[in-house]
Amino acid sequence: MSYVDEVIAKVKAKNAAEPEFIQAVEEVLETIRVVIEADEDNYRKQAFLERITEPERIIQFRVPWVDDNGQVQVNRGYRVQFNSAIGPYKGGLRLHPSVYLGIIKFLGFEQIFKNSLTGLPIGGGKGGSDFDPKGKSDNEVMRFCQSFMTELYKYIGKDEDVPAGDIGVGAREIGYLYGQYKRITGLYEGVLTGKGLSYGGSLARTQATGYGLLYLTEELLKINGKDIAGKTVVVSGAGNVATYAIEKAWQLGAKPVTCSDSTGWIYDPDGIDVATLQDVKEVRRARLTEYAKARPNSVYHEGKGVFTTKCDIALPCATQNELQLEDAKALVANGCFAVCEGANMPTTLEATKYLQDNGVIFAPGKAANAGGVATSALEMSQNSERLSWTFEEVDAKLKQIMVNITHNIDDAAKRYGMEGNYVAGANIAGFEKVANAMKAQGIV
Ligand code: NDP
Repeated sequence: MSYVDEVIAKVKAKNAAEPEFIQAVEEVLETIRVVIEADEDNYRKQAFLERITEPERIIQFRVPWVDDNGQVQVNRGYRVQFNSAIGPYKGGLRLHPSVYLGIIKFLGFEQIFKNSLTGLPIGGGKGGSDFDPKGKSDNEVMRFCQSFMTELYKYIGKDEDVPAGDIGVGAREIGYLYGQYKRITGLYEGVLTGKGLSYGGSLARTQATGYGLLYLTEELLKINGKDIAGKTVVVSGAGNVATYAIEKAWQLGAKPVTCSDSTGWIYDPDGIDVATLQDVKEVRRARLTEYAKARPNSVYHEGKGVFTTKCDIALPCATQNELQLEDAKALVANGCFAVCEGANMPTTLEATKYLQDNGVIFAPGKAANAGGVATSALEMSQNSERLSWTFEEVDAKLKQIMVNITHNIDDAAKRYGMEGNYVAGANIAGFEKVANAMKAQGIV
């Protein structure tokens, strides 16, 4: 049996109750097979793949907090410090009822390669809790965040581990988490990114993941002789990534016509109106039915269905495994020629294969959504320098990073004879840098 197959089998046996983690590992190991097999004995002797698929450290803790009725609630908190070969652990915190160890491990594993692709010195980590911020008051969210940080602060620091936002963690939550960290430690340091502008945040961090996704999409289309201007785009999600992907799609001359949340989706024939979306989601934290009320030409559909809309480009920006085989078939049948992932692992393995087999340009999340973490790393640099760069400066650096990533993944795929396979290109380019650092640092 080849070394890659041996390790996939071991990972499956050891983590049988964590299907998302297994999915992420399988995708990466399958596509770096060519690299491993070129020096298989050495990688096996070093147990290299066993080491890279095992987190350096997993922290799990109790998060007790008191709700507005005086009832004590208990959630489970996690931080997975996956790989620090190229820099301090970096990766978001997710607050969603679906969170369990397997989700955090899949996200932490992906983060290793994504962070490597940015070209910046950041290792991979991820954290979160099964707390559901939906329907909670601001005070409840604050009490939860304070309790969460009261445990987490022991394990993080500006040079050790720097968390950020993810699903369910935006400016409000980062503010509460930062306040508690500072209160306990007395340190005013860049231990979290995604901070507010008045206390060390970076301009353009809020927009970075969505904008970065569009910068990469634009560049990838150029490489493939296509232009984004004039194209119809379907977007899923209605959160941070989706909102700013929609905004930048407009700015590049495309027309985004859909968005979605966990209960339904919107088709707006006039194109999604960013101000209305922000009012409904960022300000009022309401359902998308409110968007339809404000924009009478738009149509609200209950449940799933964004990817059945006719489009040229699809940008899944909500959550993992939202784009399944039947969605991929509908996209191809409707003439979609590019899928670029704003979310982490939103496309199932079967759907990815179907899209690639049918000639769709496919950019995986670890490359396409790396703009968020890249700009977080720029926030860390500004915090260290005690300086703030302008929006234009940060945005220009973000764009350059995304353009570099696009060419790196294209070149890596070509180097290994897999031209146009950007999943392989991203995994190989991300892996090479981490692998070199791990080899240099010995068995640790
Ligand atoms: P938000 O919490 O701001 O938005 C998430 C959106 O996805 C919401 O519209 C939410 O709907 C929807 N959603 C969440 N879970 C589900 C589900 N199980 N089924 C259907 N819809 C769902 O998160 P972000 O925009 O920050 O994150 C979106 C994706 O992008 C995630 O995969 C995240 O890991 C990834 N990402 C985020 C980065 C960032 O900088 N924020 C960086 C890189 C990747 P509802 O409003 O109903 O909850």
